[in-house]
Amino acid sequence: MIIDGKQIAKELRVKITDKVSTLDRKPGLAVILVGDDPASAVYVRNKDNACKEVGFYSEKINKPANITQAELLSEVDRLNHDDKIDGILVQLPLPSHLDTNQVVEAINPSKDVDGFHSENIGKLMQNRAFLRPCTPKGVMTLLQITGIDLAGKNCVVVGASNIVGRPMAIELLNASATVTICNSKTKNLSDKIKQADVLVVAVGRPKMIQGNWIKEGATVIDVGINRLDNGKLVGDVDFDATKDKVAWITPVPGGVGPMTIATLLENTLMAYENKI
Ligand code: NDP
Repeated sequence: MIIDGKQIAKELRVKITDKVSTLDRKPGLAVILVGDDPASAVYVRNKDNACKEVGFYSEKINKPANITQAELLSEVDRLNHDDKIDGILVQLPLPSHLDTNQVVEAINPSKDVDGFHSENIGKLMQNRAFLRPCTPKGVMTLLQITGIDLAGKNCVVVGASNIVGRPMAIELLNASATVTICNSKTKNLSDKIKQADVLVVAVGRPKMIQGNWIKEGATVIDVGINRLDNGKLVGDVDFDATKDKVAWITPVPGGVGPMTIATLLENTLMAYENKI
């Protein structure tokens, strides 16, 4: 069966809208975009639109690509002290002259709705998370909705980035799964994948996971988003060769992507509720 991330994200946004309509003050999200990378600009616009749709207060802050580290830190500090703002997100990647880690660490952890601050990642590691990275948390929401009990399941995560693969593996471990994390140096990747009851792939390589690597009846979550030369969006998994043998699979587009933004809204509401 197809996991309809678009629909599940819509239902989450409706719940958030209903909640916001009962509040005296609107939850506020500030998104900082540095430079004019077109893909980042699209992500920021989508986040801003999603905020408006659920009734949040939203600030879209555009800064020139040549902003200095000190100027960017000062902007983050201003937002840390702004009572209208419950969540702060700095769109990544930043231009190479900026120190991304220092910028992320400058965000007040209780406003860190991306969940990337070391304090929030540390809490996730200790299974006492507050604000959790949006994409892995969104995947956990999708898995919950399928009704799969993750305890004791063999889960394989392909990709080990700080924003997706690593926190994803910890989320699954926190759900008592047995977790294998693969990266670009992993040997015999297909053998690892064949063991997976639940497979999560976040690499960024079109259709790198072949259908015959995947166990019959597995659940497959495809985080990858790749644009082909013909303009079509595809995931990291060969969807057509996989969909008939698995229990559940996410499509690309319309799977994990919409959940990431809906989860950002969920985190912003959590940060708001934590403050009052
Ligand atoms: P990164 O490039 O930061 O990380 C990719 C990871 O894949 C690395 O850990 C890398 O290993 C690993 N890798 C590369 N080649 C292989 C291989 N042959 N076998 C196994 N592992 C490999 O990417 P992101 O995590 O940021 O994003 C991954 C994908 O997810 C992209 O397509 C991105 O667009 C998409 N994405 C989707 C989101 C959504 O909302 N749906 C949100 C965020 C990302 P190593 O560590 O050794 O380099």
